[in-house]
Amino acid sequence: MVACFSVIGTSAASARVIYVKILVDEEERTRRDVWQIRLKQRLDRASEIINEYCDIQFALSEFGVWQSDNRETQINRSLREFEQEVEVAPAQIAIGFTSQYRFRKGINGLGGTRGPLHTHILIREASPNTQEPERLEALVHELGHFLGAAHSGNPKSVMRPIIANGLTRYNGSPIAFDRRNAKILQLVGTEVSALGLQKFHQLSDLTRRRLLVEYKGLAAELPQDPAAKQYIRYLHRRARQPTSTSQLRLPVAPQGRQRSTSAPR
Ligand SMILES: [Zn+2]
Repeated sequence: MVACFSVIGTSAASARVIYVKILVDEEERTRRDVWQIRLKQRLDRASEIINEYCDIQFALSEFGVWQSDNRETQINRSLREFEQEVEVAPAQIAIGFTSQYRFRKGINGLGGTRGPLHTHILIREASPNTQEPERLEALVHELGHFLGAAHSGNPKSVMRPIIANGLTRYNGSPIAFDRRNAKILQLVGTEVSALGLQKFHQLSDLTRRRLLVEYKGLAAELPQDPAAKQYIRYLHRRARQPTSTSQLRLPVAPQGRQRSTSAPR
């Protein structure tokens, strides 16, 4: 069940605006006005970062709440549930922030989507090991996936498979994309912005060939990571929706005192 109770219109100057529905589940711990301000500010900041690389902006369409299934224990299954429960329209993306789970020792799924230009993104919100810098990185990472970015071997890239190295929180490093993913954002962003691209299989042949070069480079950087290889397969699909899930993961230290680490997957 989804309850929407607020609509806020925003606009951008010349960039293509992608409208976003922001939702929390019933496990959200803060008051409505508190989480709405927090997540609106996070989306605005993520949009500014993405807009440094391409002519795309993300703007809030409306807020909502959905009931997450308390029996689910895996982010993949929760994403499927989120997709089934939450209608995206009139927005183009629904981003769900779930506080459903407790983080466990080891690697934890932090977020996920099914690939480029997919309609739903799910991100884990409540965690003792993440703070706002990591949460912003997680959102930028998933919006990067939305625009075609894949995982990078560059340890300073927001598209690195493991975010949890305190890069932004402790070092004050800016959230940035690596060279290959910056190129990908520019290529995909141009087709979305100028041509109104809505499905990845609608990309022009020229853009497709250029993207392939970058994905092969990213796959070589991280041979064990499936993301770039998945995106290469998406390029070869002409009229089918992506089916694989790209996940963002978070390693958690045994004592819960380690620097927070978010891993884009
Ligand atoms: Zn990822």
